[in-house]
Amino acid sequence: MAHQHTGQRDLFEHRPAWEEDDARQGIVATVVLPDGIDKALDYLVPERLAGEVEPGRRVIVPLGRANRECLAYCVALRSGELPVAPLKEIIGVEDPAPLLSPRMLELTRWMAERWMARWGEVLEAVLPAGVRLSRGVRRDPLLVASGVPPARRPTAAQARVLEAAAAPATAADLARRAECGRSVVNRLVESGLLVDAGSRERQPERAPARVASPHHRPGELSAAQQGALDAILAPLAAGRHETILLFGVTGSGKTEVYLRAVEETLAQGRQAIVLVPEISLTPQTCDRFRSRFGSVAVLHSHLTPAERHAEWREIASGRVGVVVGARSAIFAPTPRLGLIVIDEEHETSFKQATAPRYHARDVAEWIARSAGVPLVLGSATPSLESFARCLDGSWRMCRLPERVGGSQLPAVITVDLRDARSRSRGVLSPRLVAGINWALAAGGQVMLLLNRRGFSTHVQCRACGHCARCDQCDLALTLHQPGNRGICHGCGLIARLPSDCPGCGAAALVQRGTGTQKLEEQVRAGFPGARVARMDTDTMRARGSHERTLDAFRGRELDILVGTQMIAKGLDFPDVMLVGVVHADAALHLADFRAAERTCQLVTQVAGRSGRGAAGGRVVVQTATPDHPAIRAAGRHDYEAFVRHELPVREALLYPPYGSVVRIVVRSHREEAASAWAGTLVERLRAVAAKEADGGLRVLGPAPAPILRLRDRYRWHLQIHGADGARLRDVVRAATVGLKTPDDVAWIIDVDPVEML
Ligand code: ADP
Ligand code: ZN
Repeated sequence: MAHQHTGQRDLFEHRPAWEEDDARQGIVATVVLPDGIDKALDYLVPERLAGEVEPGRRVIVPLGRANRECLAYCVALRSGELPVAPLKEIIGVEDPAPLLSPRMLELTRWMAERWMARWGEVLEAVLPAGVRLSRGVRRDPLLVASGVPPARRPTAAQARVLEAAAAPATAADLARRAECGRSVVNRLVESGLLVDAGSRERQPERAPARVASPHHRPGELSAAQQGALDAILAPLAAGRHETILLFGVTGSGKTEVYLRAVEETLAQGRQAIVLVPEISLTPQTCDRFRSRFGSVAVLHSHLTPAERHAEWREIASGRVGVVVGARSAIFAPTPRLGLIVIDEEHETSFKQATAPRYHARDVAEWIARSAGVPLVLGSATPSLESFARCLDGSWRMCRLPERVGGSQLPAVITVDLRDARSRSRGVLSPRLVAGINWALAAGGQVMLLLNRRGFSTHVQCRACGHCARCDQCDLALTLHQPGNRGICHGCGLIARLPSDCPGCGAAALVQRGTGTQKLEEQVRAGFPGARVARMDTDTMRARGSHERTLDAFRGRELDILVGTQMIAKGLDFPDVMLVGVVHADAALHLADFRAAERTCQLVTQVAGRSGRGAAGGRVVVQTATPDHPAIRAAGRHDYEAFVRHELPVREALLYPPYGSVVRIVVRSHREEAASAWAGTLVERLRAVAAKEADGGLRVLGPAPAPILRLRDRYRWHLQIHGADGARLRDVVRAATVGLKTPDDVAWIIDVDPVEML
C-alpha cells in the first residue's frame, strides 16, 4: 500500500513529461494586420508583456522569414495549452490602453463579413488617423477627478480613488494609494468621473464658429411630433433597442423631435450620436444642436488629426454629451451611449465609397441593438430599404404629414419640355420665368436647381460631331468659365479647349448642355434687378464660403440662389416663394437601379424648400418625362405613391430592399485584361451559384461599366443578386477564395452598392 503510494508520488514528482506539458501552457494573442495578410495570426505573449497585451491594443509582431516588425491589432487573447507548432513571440505593445472596446472589435468583425472587407482595413477605418498615429504616449496618462456628479453613489473604494485624484496622478498611483485594484480606477475613467488631466487643460474650443441662427425652443410640440417623441422615449426609458423612422415632410418638425429626444438622453446622463449627411451642407442643423446643448462635439472634415484626436478623447471621457458628425462619427467612442439619430437617412453619403464600403445606417443599427438603445431615422423621402423595414414590421414608422405652423405645401406646376411652347432661348421656360417674376414681385426669394455644374456639359463640333473628351477618361469635358477650360468631372483633369475642332479643323465648336454657370449667367441677364448667387462645388471650395452664401441668402442680401443638389439639403428659408427644377429628369436614365428613387427624392426635397413662410409658395418642375412615376409623385408631394410603385419593381428583380447585390468592378490599363478577368469571375460565380439548391441567384455581366475608362484604366463590371445577402456573400467568397489576380488587373467588391457608374 505504502509502496504504491510512494510509487505514485515518485511518478508525480519525477516524470519529466509533466514538466514538458507545463511548459506548453501559455497565453496566445490573436492579431490582425492592418494590411497585407488577410488571416488572423496567433502569437505567443511573452511573460514580460503578460499584463499589457489585451484585445483592442496594437502590438508589434515579427512577420515572415525575415521577421519584419509589423504593427497589428490584438483582437483576442486565450490562455491554456499551446499548439504543437511553435509560435513566434510578440515583440512589444504599442498602445498604453485599448483603442477599441470589445464591442467595437465585435462590430468591426461583423462589418468585415457584412461588406466583404478585410478585418484589418475595417479596424483602421473606424479609428481616426490622429488616434492611430498617437505614438509616444506610452507614459501613463495623469488622471484627475472630473468633478462631474456621479450618477450612483460611489463605493468606498471608488470614493478613496476620487479623493486621491484631487491632484493628477497615474492610474497605478491612484490604485496604490486607494488600496484597490486597477479595475476600480478603470471603471471610474469609463464613467467619466476620472479624466485625463492633460486633456482637461487643453479642452478643445467648442464655441460656435459663427453666430448661431436664432432657433428658439418651441413651447409645444404638434400632435404628430409628440407622437414621434413618445415612440422614441418609450424604448429610451426602458433601455431597449428599437428603430423608429420619422417620415415627415420638410418642415414637419423632425429636427425638433431629435432635439427633444437628445434632451431626454442627456437628462439620463447618457450620450447621443447624431449623424448628418455632410457637415458643410447642414450648418443649420449643427447650429441648432450647438445652441440647444452645452457640450456638443461637431466632427467635421476640416478638423486636423490632432483636433479630431482631442475630440475623440473628450467623447471617450464621457464629458461630451452630443456628437454631431457625418458617416464616421458613428464610431465615436461613447461610453454611455443612449441614443443614435440619423438625419436625412436616405442620403447616399452614408455609404462609404472606398473600402471598407460600409453603410452607416446598418452600422448604427448594429450598435444601437448591441447597446440596447433607440435608433431614430428621419427623412421626407426615406430610402426604400428603410421603408420596407417599416412595412414588414421590423421598424416603427412615425408620420409627420404636415408642416408645423400650418403652412401649406407649395403647388407644383410641371412644364413638359417636349412641348414646343415650353421652349425658350435659354433653359428657363416661359412658365418658370413667369414664376420667378411672380415671386420677386411679391418680395419673395427664388431657388433654382440644376444638378450639373460647369458652363456647358460638353463641347462638340457642328461639322464633324467630334466631342472634346478627357485624355484619360471616357467622359466629355465640361466647359468651365472663366478661362475657357475643359474640366473632366471624372478625374479633375483640366485642359484648354481649342478654338477649332481638333478632328476636322473647322471653326465650328459649339457648347451644348447647360450647367450651373451658364444658368447663373442667363438668370443675371434675364432678371437684371435681382441679386444672384450660385452654390455648387466650384463656388464652395473655400472654407466658409458655403455658410457665407447661406447667411447672405437668409439675410435677404440675395434674391435668387442657383445651385446643384447642395441647395436641396436641409435648408429652411421662410421667404422662398419659388423653387424651379430646371431639368428634373437629368439623372433619371442613368444605368442605376436607384435612378428613379434618387430623382424622386431630389425633386421632392427641393420642392419642399418653397413656401415655408406665411406668403406661401410654388414649384415649377421642368421635365421631358412628366409621366414618369418618380416625377409625378414628386409633383404631388406624394413620395409614398412612388414607393408603392417602385417596391414591386425591386422585388421582381431581387434588388434591395428585397435582395442583396454584390457588384464587382475590374480595372486595368488594358481593356482586354479587364474584360477577361471580369469574364473569369463571372464563370466562377456562375459555377458556384449553379450548385445552390434553389438557384435563386443571378449573375449579370460581364459588361463594360457605364464609365468605361477612368483615370486611364478600363473598367468592366458584373453583378450578382440574391434574396439572402449572407448566402450571396458566401457564394462570392467561395468563387473567389485563393484566386490569383493577374498582375495588370485590380478589382473591388462592393456589397449593396449605392454607386453604379
Ligand atoms: P424638419 O426637420 O422636419 O424640416 P424642423 O424641426 O426644422 O423640421 O421645423 C421646421 C421649423 O419649425 C423650424 O424653424 C422649427 O424651429 C419650427 N418648429 C418645429 N417644431 C415646432 C413647434 N412645435 N412649434 C413651433 N415651431 C416649431
Ligand atoms: Zn478624366
